[in-house]
Amino acid sequence: MFRTNARRVLLAGSRGFCAGVDRAVAAVEKALEQYGAPIYVRKQIVHNRHVVQSLEERGAVFVDETEEVPPGEIVVFSAHGVAPSVHDEAKRSGLATIDATCPLVTKVHKEAVRFAREGFGILLVGHEGHEEVVGIIGEAPERISLVDNVLDATTVRARVEEKVVWLSQTTLSVDETMATAGRLKERFPDLISPPSDDICYATQNRQNAVKEIAPDSDLLIVVGSGNSSNAVRLVEVAREYGARSACLIDSAGEIEEDWLEGVVTIGLTSGASVPQILVDDVLVWLAERGWNDVQTVKTTTETQSFGLPRELARTREELFGGSGAAESVVPASDDAGEAIS
Ligand code: SF4
Repeated sequence: MFRTNARRVLLAGSRGFCAGVDRAVAAVEKALEQYGAPIYVRKQIVHNRHVVQSLEERGAVFVDETEEVPPGEIVVFSAHGVAPSVHDEAKRSGLATIDATCPLVTKVHKEAVRFAREGFGILLVGHEGHEEVVGIIGEAPERISLVDNVLDATTVRARVEEKVVWLSQTTLSVDETMATAGRLKERFPDLISPPSDDICYATQNRQNAVKEIAPDSDLLIVVGSGNSSNAVRLVEVAREYGARSACLIDSAGEIEEDWLEGVVTIGLTSGASVPQILVDDVLVWLAERGWNDVQTVKTTTETQSFGLPRELARTREELFGGSGAAESVVPASDDAGEAIS
């Protein structure tokens, strides 16, 4: 890459919807089409306001907890996953469930269950209160200690000291997580690492793309919502890798004219829960102000895709256990996320 005096946009090739988000949104759309509105969704299906609003317009009803869903209704669990207690509660409340947990989040749940069964203390690197973290901790609360940041790594206590493994949330900064794991290894020399990367392919690819364009960007714009972990991480990575300034916006309407003062090269990317239309809106906004030259910077090709949740292969009656009433077919936690293709 090079510096230039001509206005240009460097568009990250790896950006926007990942396979897990695609699947979760498609699951709600398919449920609406197949079973009719309303379809209840526990928490934001993905962390993006625009996506949530457009599903609401089609009949999805977003709730914070399953107890807000009337008995006999269908509830979809979001891409971030839920604790087993949430499945149990839905069953007790006579709800049918569709589990749209991203299979890569389910993978971390399964790791937590397995290591807990094998008697390990688990150090979970992740952000306190994030839905994904809450769900994973719920698999084995008596075994898991949360490590929120590098500082925490110096003080955290493992619940079992003799055998310790570290796992992580899927949407963290790769560099920061490695630094945290390094610190943990100093304290727990026999610490075991996750069997495979917990930080997902989409998070890694979007961060790598930002690392590529940040050094040449006077301003790097990340499209994404403030509660989206992977989008917030992209802003941090942009600053760390040399963008002169970086900002997070939900939509083009939030860009301020004075951000463009003295700016020649603008980097542009979006978080894993952001539809392309929001990026297109930003490109139009920038083009109207003289940034017509858009150069896509490709760092990798993504081919990952997931089938829809298997529950969607069932009729409404089958979802409720054949009676159309209270009994539900909540999948066992270990099966959550298996998909029909
Ligand atoms: Fe799955 Fe990663 Fe997308 Fe999260 S960001 S939904 S873990 S693919």
